[in-house]
Amino acid sequence: MKADVIVVGGGLGGLTCARDLARAGTDVVVLEARNRVGGRVEGMAFDDGRVLQMGGEIVGTVHHGYLELAAELGLAIVPSFTEEPGEDGYDMLDGTHIGEDWLSEEDRAVMARLEEAIVGIAAGVDPADPWSHPDAARLDRLSVGALLRSLEPSWRAYRLCEAGSLSAAGGSLERGSVLASARAAAGAGGVLSTDYDQWENLKVEGGSSALVDALEAQVAGRIRYDAPVQSIHVGRPCAVTLVSGEVLRADAVVCALPVGPLRRVGISGLSDERLRSLHRQRQAPASKAVTVLDGPVWRRAGWNGLAISEHEIGGFWVQGEGALSSLLGPEKRGYIDAAPPGTLTQALIDSLERLCGPVEPQAVLWRHWGTDPYSLGYVAIWEPGDLMAVGPLHGTHEPPFYVAGSDHWSAGYMEGAVRTGRDAARAVLGQPRASLYVE
Ligand SMILES: Cc1cc2nc3c(=O)[nH]c(=O)nc-3n(C[C@H](O)[C@H](O)[C@H](O)COP(=O)(O)OP(=O)(O)OC[C@H]3O[C@@H](n4cnc5c(N)ncnc54)[C@H](O)[C@@H]3O)c2cc1C
Repeated sequence: MKADVIVVGGGLGGLTCARDLARAGTDVVVLEARNRVGGRVEGMAFDDGRVLQMGGEIVGTVHHGYLELAAELGLAIVPSFTEEPGEDGYDMLDGTHIGEDWLSEEDRAVMARLEEAIVGIAAGVDPADPWSHPDAARLDRLSVGALLRSLEPSWRAYRLCEAGSLSAAGGSLERGSVLASARAAAGAGGVLSTDYDQWENLKVEGGSSALVDALEAQVAGRIRYDAPVQSIHVGRPCAVTLVSGEVLRADAVVCALPVGPLRRVGISGLSDERLRSLHRQRQAPASKAVTVLDGPVWRRAGWNGLAISEHEIGGFWVQGEGALSSLLGPEKRGYIDAAPPGTLTQALIDSLERLCGPVEPQAVLWRHWGTDPYSLGYVAIWEPGDLMAVGPLHGTHEPPFYVAGSDHWSAGYMEGAVRTGRDAARAVLGQPRASLYVE
């Protein structure tokens, strides 16, 4: 079989790319390993008909690429958890709090200084070329934790910042590069991803999986499901071999795989330098839980459903009227492997009860992304030194081999999948490159 373009991976990045290529009249085929598309965006139908989001869920005002695509697909955008009434929750090992009364002025000030410091560095970082920053190597080796410690926070403020970072499941502050954090902010117009009012304030009505459904409908007939790719040879033509042994040929290949599964695909015909760069990225293994409740029980405690926690479960945010989402990041994943069955779910319920009193969830649903062979993680992470090691080939193409997918963007996210998907389609079509970043 021969096509103009083969897109490997039918996640948000691959589907967005395939849609643009198909609309431009290209003969495009998407090869998807699973029996469904969407990848790390996954809707799960609950007994009562609700579709729960087990993966990517929320976007924000700064996600112009995603919002533009949603508008093209005719989807409505609605406010997210940031509109919930009430105060934030903190489930710390030495006490649970609703509201910020337990924090001092100085605690709050030091957290604001950390944000200011990273935004200040971001102002001098070109997200397309962070390597050209005059102090790039040092800033990449410097961890966000070390930067915070240099601001002399109280022990409480340090713990709070660290718990916040672990709650977002991207890893400890001590394991995040300052240059990578500044680049992520620079890529979104200078706004930090911890600024929830701009990064997390919106969602697609009906859930993010509704956007995947709409994309899938527009690429209908061009997707091969249950078609895991084993190897890619880049040449003229390119040859893509499936695990089944079938070989497909095309003039170009768009590789839209997460970086973990990508390492398991044999790739020949690419420069050593590019392969080294592609293989050098790493991901955060994480799990997501969705707690299904009879209603917004969090409101009775004056709590807005948003919490960070130092206990096993990272925290909570409101996914919908009777549903809370939670993440369990890399440092806490050991609990999954080591704990007796049911312990984690009980830990989640205990945390919830500390925050808002007795609860009787209808269900607690878990999705372990870190061990799923077709994801092997949740988002790309940048430990100190990683950005320099991956280098300036990150997110670039080597025709007829192109990359798409959120791991090739400055900050991951569904925004990254959409932007890189569109960028890859433009590159394949020989159209001028639009900026991958928010200007
Ligand atoms: C729990 C969780 C919560 C998240 N929350 C948010 C959020 O709230 N907001 C946000 O913006 N982002 C969020 N994200 C991140 C976001 O979902 C992802 O960054 C984005 O969806 C990734 O899209 P992608 O196309 O790059 O990769 P993927 O969605 O991973 O797609 C890659 C595709 O490749 C397929 N594949 C893998 N191996 C092969 C193979 N060998 N052959 C063929 N196909 C293969 C996979 O099955 C998959 O369909 C979250 C992610 C997770 C896991």
